[in-house]
Amino acid sequence: MIPKDIAADKMTPEEMWKAVSENDASYDGLFFYAVRSTGIYCRPSCKSKVPKRENVCFFDTAEGARTAGFRPCKRCRSDLAEYQPIREIADKAKQLLDDSFRRSCEWNRELRQLGVSKRRMAEIFKEEYGVTLSEYVGSLRLKEAKRLLSDTGEEIIDIAYSTGFGGVSSFYRFFKNETGLSPAAYRKEHCV
Ligand SMILES: [Zn+2]
Repeated sequence: MIPKDIAADKMTPEEMWKAVSENDASYDGLFFYAVRSTGIYCRPSCKSKVPKRENVCFFDTAEGARTAGFRPCKRCRSDLAEYQPIREIADKAKQLLDDSFRRSCEWNRELRQLGVSKRRMAEIFKEEYGVTLSEYVGSLRLKEAKRLLSDTGEEIIDIAYSTGFGGVSSFYRFFKNETGLSPAAYRKEHCV
């Protein structure tokens, strides 16, 4: 489902134009733009040359653009139904974090491969899952750290690194903050 605040009927022409000029794929499927001078309509992410603003008009659907006499773009295949809706991007981001949270900092870089700006990704993720990207990564790390502390005999320093913390002190700080216990105290309480 498309979050309400970015549904096409709530978007301003300025916002749509910004998405077009930035080739922002997270808007694909939410609207289409057509270029009067070429007679072609595109998805927001289309990599063809950004048209002049005064030649551009917007449509909620591909159907609308066709009805108005525009032809689909061969480059972005604006006539094809499949696109990356918001949900799909959010799911991919979540998958990526699930896979990479152990690697300190890297997840942030990997998210960029999804082709959405950092700010936009933060919005999409929060909208879909109700937590920020770093809160989500934190929850994954905490869960994994708890598991390693209670189920294994791994050294705390190793756990700190293998759960993506840059060092023991940041791990301690985070863990204490989240659980009220130091990792060692947690282990003592939960070790079987
Ligand atoms: Zn196009």
